[in-house]
Formats: sequence, C-alpha cells, structure tokens
Amino acid sequence: MAFNVPVNLRLEIISCCVCGVMFGLAEEFNSSLRETLKLWYCPNGHSQSYLGKSMATQIFELEKKNLALSLERDRAETKAAQKGKQLASFKKRKQEKDKKAGRGRSK
Ligand SMILES: [Zn+2]
Repeated sequence: MAFNVPVNLRLEIISCCVCGVMFGLAEEFNSSLRETLKLWYCPNGHSQSYLGKSMATQIFELEKKNLALSLERDRAETKAAQKGKQLASFKKRKQEKDKKAGRGRSK
C-alpha cells in the first residue's frame, strides 16, 4: 500500500564541479554547508565543499572592522574639536593683539 504525503520542500539545484551531475539540496541543509564549510558529496561520490569564510566569520570580521572605524572616527572628531578650539583661541589672541597694535598707532 502506498500513501501520498504532501511535502513542502525547497531545493537548491547544485551541479557537481567534478562530474557535472545536477542534484537538489534542501535549502536549509545547503545553508548549513555554506556556514560550516564541511565536506559533502555529490550523488556520484565526489567530495564537495564551499570555500572561503563562513557567514559568521565574515560578520564577525565586519563588526570588528566597523568597531575599529568607529574608534578611528571618534579619535578624529576629538582631534578636530581640539584643533577647532586652538584655532578659535589663536584668532582671539590675534584680534586682541591687532586691537592693541591699532590703539598704539592711533595715539
Ligand atoms: Zn560528482
């Protein structure tokens, strides 16, 4: 006796890089393979694996880079604020100096 069982399954079509056979992997399983970079096999037994960094590693590295850039930006903003204060102080002293010099000439 046979039964019909409705199944809702999303498959990603993969082609073996060695023999070219096409087959389907469940979407979640394929995602886990991309994430873990584990070895797996085509239906003809050829070993396969995704190369590169896992998504988690890429996210970690990008967050680390983002933090470093934020720190760099904060340091640059602090330095710019300090330079702005120095410039304002310099301008004020120059105005005072010019003012005194102007008074001295008029007498
Ligand atoms: Zn193969």
